[in-house]
Amino acid sequence: MKPRIWSVVLWLGVAVVGWGQVHEDARLNRTIETSATAYTIQGAKTRQEELLRNQIQTMQPDVLPRRIVFVPHWKYLYAARMYRLHVPTGMASRMFTHLESRSVFIDTDRYGDDDSLGHWMAHELGHLAMNSSSEEDAEKAAAKYRRRLKEVRKRDPQ
Ligand SMILES: [Zn+2]
Repeated sequence: MKPRIWSVVLWLGVAVVGWGQVHEDARLNRTIETSATAYTIQGAKTRQEELLRNQIQTMQPDVLPRRIVFVPHWKYLYAARMYRLHVPTGMASRMFTHLESRSVFIDTDRYGDDDSLGHWMAHELGHLAMNSSSEEDAEKAAAKYRRRLKEVRKRDPQ
């Protein structure tokens, strides 16, 4: 096999193992997961991770993701197809959420600037809060989170 194919196999293997553990640990870890740092961020630069953790803390989501993964575009498309995850076709997709494992995937090549990172993350947190794959449900919850982001931006303009 070519090195690139191996890396996909490897990456998917890790992802599947990770998701298997989610189901087993979900109940035990329930109380720990309410803290703001109890989720992992993979594949991000230090600055991206700090920014995103900050934004999520500001949004105070009702349900935290368990895992956030930054991936390059080709891997993003591959993961979405492999797991038949919900990726809206109408709009250019930049992130998606796998509800069962509470994993959010971010397309590193396409999510845009700092503000749009928060904007789209609010939508994914909306899916988690409503435990729903419906775009309407997600947007309903996201409105509240985006308001909180906006308030902080107004208070401490950069
Ligand atoms: Zn959505």
